[in-house]
Amino acid sequence: MFENHLPTAELQALDAAHHMHPFTDGAGLNKKGARVITGASGVWLTDSDGNRILDAMAGLWCVNIGYGRPEMADAAARQINQLSFYNTFFQTTHVPAVTLAAKLAELAPYDLNHAFFANSGSEANDTNLRLVRHYWKAKGKPTKRIVIGRWNGYHGSTMGSASLGGMKFMHEQGGLPIPDVAHIDQPDWWMQGGDSAPDDFGLARARQLEAKIIALGADNVAAFIAEPIQGSGGVIVPPATYWPEIQRICREHNILLIADEVITGFGRTGRWFGSETLDIRPDIMTIAKGMSSGYAPIGASLLSDDVADTINDAGEFNHGYTYAAHPLSAALALENIRILEDDDIVDHVANVAGPYLKEKWEALIDHPLVGDASILGMMGSIRMTPDKASRAKFKADEGTAGYICRERCFANNLVMRHVGDRMVISPPLVITTDEIDMFIARAITSLDETHAKLKADGLMEAAPAG
Ligand SMILES: *Cc1c(COP(=O)(O)O)cnc(C)c1O
Repeated sequence: MFENHLPTAELQALDAAHHMHPFTDGAGLNKKGARVITGASGVWLTDSDGNRILDAMAGLWCVNIGYGRPEMADAAARQINQLSFYNTFFQTTHVPAVTLAAKLAELAPYDLNHAFFANSGSEANDTNLRLVRHYWKAKGKPTKRIVIGRWNGYHGSTMGSASLGGMKFMHEQGGLPIPDVAHIDQPDWWMQGGDSAPDDFGLARARQLEAKIIALGADNVAAFIAEPIQGSGGVIVPPATYWPEIQRICREHNILLIADEVITGFGRTGRWFGSETLDIRPDIMTIAKGMSSGYAPIGASLLSDDVADTINDAGEFNHGYTYAAHPLSAALALENIRILEDDDIVDHVANVAGPYLKEKWEALIDHPLVGDASILGMMGSIRMTPDKASRAKFKADEGTAGYICRERCFANNLVMRHVGDRMVISPPLVITTDEIDMFIARAITSLDETHAKLKADGLMEAAPAG
């Protein structure tokens, strides 16, 4: 095999010596060596030893159109030859920025007609945090500053976005959350619903928002932020009663609603945006990831007419990123959207690959290790359990079984991620039914091997209830 790179062991040694990985136990990884990914096409990754790996995570929830599309390479070359960079700070704009903003306004539901660009989901959510406070000040309500998020929500990794998120293991490092951020519980019926019916539980969890607003005083609350379907929290599909009640509460208490669509946007749920699938009407939408299918970093806050007009009429908004609406990223986002449209990829999710995957995925509930199998469009999860009937957790630390399963998947040339003892998937939207068959076969093999190892290691014991 032709190799245009150093041997794997040398790359791993250099990686260990010089490269700090995000969300990683550095010493642990450096001891065993990172797997070196050298190429990718469609839903397939290639590693430096020549293995072909089926990527059921679309990179990090982002490669919606699949890897290695030549049209994207051509669009990048065209844009760099035409205009490699210009900023948008000093009363200038450029063609990709204008065209992309107008295209997003056309695609986004309701009157989300205005884009404020960023380079990632984290940055866009930091923008949202400043923007909602600036908005209420402009409206003559400067005390409305608190933003409410959810425990186990994920909104990014900067100081602001990690504070909006509810990942306690992130808050523990670096002294988070920042002031004027509050959290309510997530609508995770399987883990936390106890004896209540899912719909009752969904209502109860939504009403925690109302209780929190009343406790803090509506005059002090600026916004509520949530993912339509939690992604990094484990692909938690909320009970049907949840979102309509959240919507009512935000409206009645005069709180802005921010839908973090960084994962659910650009076709993942079978509509262009998760807000359409779940009938949510946000004032602000965060987008990133599938916006460019990961071909270049880009994100944005999409604002309603009211929010945008209020900000525009309030003088200078002292905020922005050098590379906001970067011409290369914007051109790639536009080409990505063109491919999504011309190849009818959202329809493929809604009517072809989505229903096919749903049938196969939900059938995993028959596996002895699987206690829950949920899926909406092209994002799904399975919960592993030592006892389905009681929805028991393992006695071993949360994440022990998940880690074993992830390792078994990787050994079987399949990428599934684990969130605790949930396995989550978010494949490229272009996955074919044949590839889904291969994916499910590898998933079952990996679950069988995980089950065998858990039994052999005495790890199938259930935690005491409660
Ligand atoms: C990934 C993610 C983010 C953060 O985006 P980055 O591009 O990693 O900064 C924010 N919100 C959600 C829902 C995400 O999944």
